[in-house]
Amino acid sequence: MAIHYIDELTEELKDKVVIARFDFNVPLSKSDRSKITDTTRIDMALETIQYLLDNGVKKLILMSHLGRPKGQVNEDYSLEPVASYLADKLREDVLLTESCLDRGIKTLLGLNESRVILLQNLRFHPEEEAGAPEFARALASYADIYVNDAFGVAHRKHASAYIINAYFKKNAYGGFLMKREIEALLKITNKPKSPFVAIVGGAKVSDKIKIIERLIVNVDHLIIGGAMAYPFLAAQGHEVGESLCSEADIALAKRILMSSSKSKVILPIDHIVSSEFGGAPEVCEKVEIPEGKMGLDIGPKTIDLYNQKLAGSATVLWNGPMGLFENEDFANGTMAIAKTLSRMESAFTLVGGGDSVSAVQKAGLASKMSHVSTGGGASLEFIEEGSLPGIQALKFGLDLN
Ligand code: AMP
Repeated sequence: MAIHYIDELTEELKDKVVIARFDFNVPLSKSDRSKITDTTRIDMALETIQYLLDNGVKKLILMSHLGRPKGQVNEDYSLEPVASYLADKLREDVLLTESCLDRGIKTLLGLNESRVILLQNLRFHPEEEAGAPEFARALASYADIYVNDAFGVAHRKHASAYIINAYFKKNAYGGFLMKREIEALLKITNKPKSPFVAIVGGAKVSDKIKIIERLIVNVDHLIIGGAMAYPFLAAQGHEVGESLCSEADIALAKRILMSSSKSKVILPIDHIVSSEFGGAPEVCEKVEIPEGKMGLDIGPKTIDLYNQKLAGSATVLWNGPMGLFENEDFANGTMAIAKTLSRMESAFTLVGGGDSVSAVQKAGLASKMSHVSTGGGASLEFIEEGSLPGIQALKFGLDLN
């Protein structure tokens, strides 16, 4: 069974009330909570919103969460800045409700003014994250059709993104962002074109162990970078100095290195090190890191090695930075990988996971990738599991009994 997407709907939308879940979880300025510091997530939703409006819906009810207000009303997490930004972009009124359960909402639906209604932050209600059926049913009662374009929360069994499907049966559709994300991730999980290379970086092996174990079966090379590389090097008996490297991570790395796919694992052969976290950078030309030094980025020979392994590949997945990239002195490895991928025009390149996404954005190279996934946790879990609860519910419906 396939997901139904909104592009199957045209005439059917006319005069209907549609309720649509988005991920408007944008960062707000700490000093001025009315300022959105990065509008990407809202911009990504505009295509779906505009499509629904252009096809003549009677009312469009938008839903999202913002931050972690933990089930309580907290003005710091109000969707007010999102409502203003949307009104500006759509060039029409966007009415923000006081809560998702306002008595006035049903009345609003009968009035002629304001086609677009934004429900206040879903997570002001504890029932949202708890996946409470009564809450989902109340949301569903506002509308004829449900649209889910919130890929970023598709791994959660929350009321508005998962449970709500139980109340729409045949009237639940995926939005355009959901479609793009799923189609891109399927190219990684479903018979990826070979040669297939995965680059996994970041802080801890334990955070990425599931994805590594899943990927290692299908990849031709599994390139490991970032602090995650040191437990692997330590597991092979190398000196890692003061680098981040826990015993638990060494044990996990040993497990991978004992598998029949161990020859696929590609590790750093030199490093950029420092005596302290974020201190002066030095090149360490060998695999062994001297006592008192910590590895904070991959070295130039490693960059060359990784580029050789990437050359000619047809599919590349990248998750996690190659070093302490927030500090310019240790950003070279991460930026080099971003540049290499940006030049691989004939390959399918997918960047998923928060930090590597911000690295390609910082490098101004996001548009050169085949796909940059917006949902960090969701895209990782999709690769690990092959699908997500929110997607399964859209596909097959949901029966709560
Ligand atoms: P993750 O969220 O697991 O992808 O980890 C990303 C974080 O790992 C970033 O904040 C990086 O600065 C950090 N990181 C990557 N490499 C290193 C390293 N060699 N030493 C310390 N931190 C690192």
